[in-house]
Amino acid sequence: MKRVGVIGGGQLAWMMADAAKKLGVELVVQTPSPNDPAVSISAKDNVFAAIDDANATAELAKKSDVITFENEFVDIEALSKLAEQGVCFRPRLEALAPLLDKYHQRCYLRDLGLPVPRFVAIEQDWNTTAEVIFASEIGFPTVLKARRHGYDGQGTFIIKDIESLKQKLEVYSTKELETQPNSFLLEEFIPFERELAVIAARYVSGEVCTFPVVETQQEEQVCRRAIAPACVSSQVAVEIDKIARTLLNSLDAVGVFGIEFFLTPDGKVLVNEVAPRTHNSGHFSIDACETSQFEQHLRAVCGMQLGNTTMICPGAVMVNLLGYEISESDYITKRQQIEQIPQAHVHWYGKTESRPGRKLGHVTVLLDTQSRDQAIVIARSIESIWYPHQAC
Ligand code: ADP
Repeated sequence: MKRVGVIGGGQLAWMMADAAKKLGVELVVQTPSPNDPAVSISAKDNVFAAIDDANATAELAKKSDVITFENEFVDIEALSKLAEQGVCFRPRLEALAPLLDKYHQRCYLRDLGLPVPRFVAIEQDWNTTAEVIFASEIGFPTVLKARRHGYDGQGTFIIKDIESLKQKLEVYSTKELETQPNSFLLEEFIPFERELAVIAARYVSGEVCTFPVVETQQEEQVCRRAIAPACVSSQVAVEIDKIARTLLNSLDAVGVFGIEFFLTPDGKVLVNEVAPRTHNSGHFSIDACETSQFEQHLRAVCGMQLGNTTMICPGAVMVNLLGYEISESDYITKRQQIEQIPQAHVHWYGKTESRPGRKLGHVTVLLDTQSRDQAIVIARSIESIWYPHQAC
């Protein structure tokens, strides 16, 4: 397999570039705009179209030996027709299908016997759902989630009481719930001690390989940092590894998947979310592991041997550089300042426009010791350079 078609041309596709070069693989992307990050690194004959445009994917298929995803907001039903005609998708569409809707995903994980927060779908008559919350002991605070198309915390709302829930659903009831009654799910709020994540890859032969578990830190539901490896007991690490294997084997998946977890104060691990693609929590692997998640993904989808996922340093911290204003700046001065930090690797996605919360780049700093405290100090110093008015 030498030509990989990628649905989505954002930073996740962009970060496949170095790995593709190393492996002698050519990338072709389907993405809406010529300004999207991955356009600069892929072949000249990219397909410019919406992610869910299956006709465009048919074009992409003509130019590719295999098609993979950097973005899961696809139209599975329309793509199935291409699969029937022999287009090779990795992961296959059947492995994506149970994951695209957060409610279906929760049901799939629960039915597999994997630990998840208690959850309930919001039905058209949402007042009944409100009663269900109490009946099912989900209680408040509760978490309201858009079932589809949520990302970076958009579509996830922590709701403190029944009044706030009613208000939120009233806002949506007119424009969303009437047209799309199955738009939301509610789940119990987990007062987690930490959030963890793991990147797992599965090969065509069924071999599964995981990266070190990381701790992720979110603010306002958006990932700000990842600390690798997470400081967790071997029992927790083994449990996470087991969950990743069970899931990828059950899906008969090929490629890299990102899995997010809650670790409760009493040491229980619950699955929060599964992304059928490379993931923000695995960005540290570019600089800190023998094989990056992007290389691992290409190796898996091209049917090559899986790479070694060992870290090349005792620890690492990854900090997202999020937009905090509307601007067309490339923030070169700030980036240069961050680059001065010893062992810092800055990755800038080359987006032409900044908006609050938009992922513009990330920094990974390699650490000489495995110290969570040191990782947090370094993360804060990066953030004090990056964000205006943030004290170190
Ligand atoms: P997205 O798909 O947009 O990333 P998530 O469902 O992963 O959204 O939620 C984003 C963040 O919101 C999580 O990382 C976590 O910090 C918080 N969150 C989500 N669900 C829960 C929950 N059930 N209990 C507590 N916090 C939650």
